[in-house]
This record gives sequence, C-alpha cells and structure tokens, in this order.
Amino acid sequence: MPISKDTPISILGSGAWGLSTAIHLLAAGHTNLTVYDRSPEIPSPYSAAYDLNKIVRAEYEDPFYTRLALQAIHAWKTHPAFTPHYHQTGYVVACTGRAPPKAVEHLEKALASIEQDPAFKAGIRRLEGREAFRDYTWQYTGPLSQWKGYYNRLAGYAHSSDSLRSAWEFAARRGVKFVLGEEAGRVTKLVYSGKKCTGFVTADGQTHSSALTIVALGAHGASLLPSLGKFSVARSWSVAHVQLTEEECNLLRGIPTTNVRDLGFFFEPDPKTRLFKLCPLGIGYTNPDAKTGISLPPPDRLPPPQDFIPYEDEKKLRQLLRETFPWMASRPFVDQKLCWFADTADSEYCIDYVPGTENSVICLSGDSGHGFKMMPVFGEWVVELIQRGKQPLERWQWREGSVGGGDWGEKVSWRIGKGAELGELIRAKERVVRARL
Ligand SMILES: Cc1cc2nc3c(=O)[nH]c(=O)nc-3n(C[C@H](O)[C@H](O)[C@H](O)COP(=O)(O)OP(=O)(O)OC[C@H]3O[C@@H](n4cnc5c(N)ncnc54)[C@H](O)[C@@H]3O)c2cc1C
Repeated sequence: MPISKDTPISILGSGAWGLSTAIHLLAAGHTNLTVYDRSPEIPSPYSAAYDLNKIVRAEYEDPFYTRLALQAIHAWKTHPAFTPHYHQTGYVVACTGRAPPKAVEHLEKALASIEQDPAFKAGIRRLEGREAFRDYTWQYTGPLSQWKGYYNRLAGYAHSSDSLRSAWEFAARRGVKFVLGEEAGRVTKLVYSGKKCTGFVTADGQTHSSALTIVALGAHGASLLPSLGKFSVARSWSVAHVQLTEEECNLLRGIPTTNVRDLGFFFEPDPKTRLFKLCPLGIGYTNPDAKTGISLPPPDRLPPPQDFIPYEDEKKLRQLLRETFPWMASRPFVDQKLCWFADTADSEYCIDYVPGTENSVICLSGDSGHGFKMMPVFGEWVVELIQRGKQPLERWQWREGSVGGGDWGEKVSWRIGKGAELGELIRAKERVVRARL
C-alpha cells in the first residue's frame, strides 16, 4: 500500500543519492522528510562525491544505462539545483598504443552504444593519431602515442562538492530537515520490532522513530545492513591533484574531460582552487574485515590511513601526464586520497526494500563507481519504488547471499589491472618510507 504524504521518512546519508532522494520525495509531495549524516556539513568528507568533479557521460555497454544517463544529462541542464554545476566540455576517450585488448574492446562497445543514436550522432567523431586529438585539445604538447578513440560533445563533468551543497540548500529551503554531525547525525544501528524497522539510534544515544528508513550510506551501507556487504563491497580508487598557477589554469580552461582507458582520466582545472584533478583507472582496493570478510571503508577519515595513493597509481598518472602535458609530469601530487564507493559484481545498483522488513527499510547501494552522474534523476527511481511497493526491475533488486564469487573486481569489463587490499597498500607504503630513512 502506498504511504501517505505526511508519513515520517528518514533518509540516512546525505551523499549524491540521499540528497537526490530527498529532492524527489519533496517534489512528489512528501512533507515529513529528515536527512541524517555524520558530517557536520554538506558535502561530507565521507561521501564518494566529496571532491571537485565527476564525469557525466551517457555511453555505456548497456543501453539501459545509456537511456538513464541521457535523462540525467537533460536534468543537469534543466533542474535549478543542478544546472550551475554541469559543464558540457565534451568528452575525449582514448586508448594508447600500449592498451591491453580489454581496454580497446570496452572503448569500442561504449562508442557503439551511442555512435548511431540520434541524440549523439552529430556530436561524435572518431579520432586517430596526435593531430586528430589536438583538434579538440590544442594544449597537448605530449606525444599521445598511437592514441585511438573518439570525441563526444554531449558529455563533460559536474562539480561534485558544489552539486552536493546546492542540493542540500535546495532541499533545506523547501522544508527538508537535516540532522548533521558525528554525534546527532551518525547512525549507529537500526532498531527493529519483530521484523519491522521502527527507527534507528544515533551516536549521541538518541533513538529516532521512523515509519520508513532509507539507507543511503554509499560505501558504508553494510555498517547498518551487514547482509548488504555480501553483494555490495566497499572499494576505493585513487584521486590526486596538481596545483596549477593562474596562468596554467587559464591555459587549460575548457579542455574536454579526457579518459585514457589504459591510464586514467582528468578534467579542466577547477577555477576556484586551481587544482587539476587526476584519477588512475584500475580495479581499486577493498578493506575486508578479518572475521566477517565484509569490506567497509576505515571508520574515520582523520587521522588519515587513506590519504595517499599507491605507487602503481602514481606511475599511471605520471605516464598520463607525460603523454599529454609533460610540463606537469614531475610536479608533486597534492591532496592525494583513496575515495570509497559501493561496488557490485555486475555494476548494477541496488534500489530496493530490504527483504523481510515489511517494507520498512529501503536500501540504496551498489553505485559501482558510476552513480554520481545520475544524481539529478536518481531520486525519481526511489519515488517509483515507494509508489509501487516493490522493485520490478530484477537488476536493481536486493540480492540474497554472496554474489560474484570472491573478489570480482578484475572481471568488470571497464576496469584494467590488479586489485589489492588497503592493509597491503599501507604496509607497502610503510616499507617505502622506512627504506627512505
Ligand atoms: C574516485 C571516484 C571517482 C568517481 N567518479 C565518478 C564519475 O566520474 N562519474 C560518476 O557518475 N560517478 C563516479 N563515482 C561514483 C560516485 O561518486 C558515487 O556513485 C556516488 O557518490 C554515490 O552516492 P551515494 O549517495 O550512494 O554515496 P556517497 O555519496 O558516498 O554518500 C554516502 C553518505 O553517507 C554518509 N554516512 C556514512 N556513514 C554514515 C552513518 N553511519 N550515519 C550517517 N551518515 C553516514 C556519508 O557522510 C555520506 O554523506 C566515483 C567514485 C569514486 C570513489
């Protein structure tokens, strides 16, 4: 049975999906919405979107997500909370001459998903060789060794921290309540009466009752729903930046978002901070608990066990810079971090009621590292779920038991390389530090 519009609904987590859910429930007429987050302000440093920018593009191997991403791009351009934060700089995707066949195959499949689509066709051009790529980024001075790929006009990036802040303000101004902070906003457990979840407890010891609880904790979801950890794994990728001068920042203004499938990706520099963000492409790193096997991010950001990037990732990023902007290739990397997301074996989201809770808990998880672009529309899918009372799409349903058979990271078609565990990375880093002493 659909719930009434004044039913108290609690959204746990004010990341990309929690905030989108609040905005769309509001638009659907819900009047009693409260969002809880452990961070004292939004954007939260615990959100996967707590940084400068994220790629917004619609090419996918699966046309289902292509269609959704097109809707999202439309909303990035029309929804007042999001329009200032979307930048359609275009998107260059490439493989170098040394790319493994898996990377080339993924590029071809992604291109095929949009190449003949009327929405994209006029804005797509296949590219081969240095001069073709320099038509779109004349600032390249590197060799672009045997690059092949394409340019897609209908894509770019969104400023992720600014989008979170804007969505927060948009929702708060329209009456959504926010409870923030490590004491009042951090949820420590769900409370059940029989099978039904009746609310939750926050770190200050308060119990809050809630008719419907929506768990939107990103990579942290299994801390409240342990069985989620069997199919949605906390995994991290590296992020690093180069600090540019004003002139350098001006030079690179307006470059397309660029994704070199065998190395990594970057964006035009952020004009406010003049930081140039880079991410290596890879499998990513898990943090499994020795007893349960469930991977969760380290509980605290500070002190920072994760504010570094592994050597292999640094090597990839320096190679990416030698290929493109060699003048930047030996600059120090600042603001390095590992950033956590919720990963499923087939990269499918989970947008569903938790089974056996009498429709009292909804779980939003499994963004699989491609969920930010959907922020302007994501909440619509939660509204639909609530209206229907069940998730008809099998791909977004809750999964029972362990899915994926161990560490599936390397099997995902769009990821190249080898995965590792955070503990191994920290030990390797400590060995390097000791060797230097
Ligand atoms: C390095 C990296 C690059 C990415 N690049 C892209 C990209 O280019 N394009 C794209 O579309 N997507 C990208 N993503 C994925 C994107 O960031 C995620 O899909 C998106 O942020 C998921 O949103 P979420 O709301 O599920 O989780 P999050 O945004 O992580 O939010 C979770 C929230 O839960 C809160 N929280 C955690 N524990 C508690 C608790 N106990 N109590 C209360 N609150 C709590 C946190 O503070 C946080 O605000 C990338 C992810 C990473 C890590």
